[in-house]
Amino acid sequence: MRRKGLASMASQTVVTTADTVDLGPAAGLSCRECGERFALGPIFACEICFGPLEVAYDFPSGDPEGLRKRIENGPENIWRYAPLLPVPADVADKPNLNPGWTKLVTADNLARELGVETGKLFVKDDSGNPTHSFKDRVVAQAIEAARAFGFTTLSCSSTGNLAGAVGAAAARAGFRSCVFIPHDLEQGKVVMAAVYGGELVGIEGNYDDVNRFCSELIGDPAGEGWGFVNVNLRPYYGEGSKTLAYEICEQLGWRIPDQIVIPIASGSQLTKIDKGIQELIKLGLVEDRPYKIFGAQAEGCSPVSVAFKAGHDVVRPQKPDTIAKSLAIGNPADGPYVLDICRRTGGAVEDVTDEQIVDAIKLLARTEGIFTETAGGTTLGVAKKLIEAGAIDPSLTTVVINTGDGLKTLDAVAPTAGMSAVIRPNLDSFREAGLA
Ligand SMILES: *Cc1c(COP(=O)(O)O)cnc(C)c1O
Ligand SMILES: [Zn+2]
Repeated sequence: MRRKGLASMASQTVVTTADTVDLGPAAGLSCRECGERFALGPIFACEICFGPLEVAYDFPSGDPEGLRKRIENGPENIWRYAPLLPVPADVADKPNLNPGWTKLVTADNLARELGVETGKLFVKDDSGNPTHSFKDRVVAQAIEAARAFGFTTLSCSSTGNLAGAVGAAAARAGFRSCVFIPHDLEQGKVVMAAVYGGELVGIEGNYDDVNRFCSELIGDPAGEGWGFVNVNLRPYYGEGSKTLAYEICEQLGWRIPDQIVIPIASGSQLTKIDKGIQELIKLGLVEDRPYKIFGAQAEGCSPVSVAFKAGHDVVRPQKPDTIAKSLAIGNPADGPYVLDICRRTGGAVEDVTDEQIVDAIKLLARTEGIFTETAGGTTLGVAKKLIEAGAIDPSLTTVVINTGDGLKTLDAVAPTAGMSAVIRPNLDSFREAGLA
């Protein structure tokens, strides 16, 4: 699928310099490994130690009550947290998809089924975002960085959902987009990535091949002037996941939940949820209390889970083979940090089989009327497994994050979710079917 030459899109260059960049409270980038500071720019690795860069902030200080009020009076989307994000103050007025402020569902039917105290189990349902996955949160940040740095083409390497989120956000914000996916993704993900009118390129390989290709493209004249949301804009992109932590705590009445179960692809979301909680504590918006973070993977792509259980600090790459394609990253960039966080908080990383993923998708649908994709099946499947193993305490507050919509992964459940009967249009036929 290739309608126009990619090279013809690569002529623009980055015009903005660091001193004219306005990304609100973002003051610079700092290396997660050695702490070295850098000016805001489209860079993602430390020049000294090659560690990943993170956004460093000058946060408003001293008036948590005022800040809380300001947030509560803000828009019902992620921009209520604009004072804590790398975005300009007028971000809500710019053309974007305004994701976030998704429902935190009290899942009592599911709780009863899993033996959890009622009122204690919640599903943060991020399938309610504009392109039906949590990726709209991260893309919204990356777009502001792309604007600030003068990019006009948006790109990404994607396991499916990100491609759709970039395509839609680019269409709305007036960017050109050209995104890259493994060629064998689910039809729902492919169509959703293509429909917004940008270029969608399938790569003959898995996600790790796609990602490697994008890294090469960044260093080549063919990719000059392109903002890759999860590569050269990754420090900004990642900050979008903090809004999940902010929303969950605010929706619980400005309280940190005891236990959170989070899916792991690259591990970015999990590490940034922890970062978000730590920021809320430092800003005095929530009380500092212990919480445990649990990571979820599919057995067919479980490099972080395997390392966690073996007590290793390094993550050995795997070749993914699972129906949870949105989580199929065999060499997760944030793997070691996920291990740190899950160990430090007293949580765990666990994995489930494809069969358990399908069972969990149907369990959530049957109990709460929420149709999740395979990633959500993975997360709930792991939550169930950890409750049964006693690692998750059923008497404490637990939040399970549903990151995507089941309509995009119909194939996973289609073989076991069909019609109860096909009948002729008369009552006799209905009675014969035994459904009366
Ligand atoms: C991308 C994605 C994730 C997690 O991604 P990270 O790379 O770990 O941040 C989880 N669920 C779905 C549905 C996704 O698309
Ligand atoms: Zn460094």
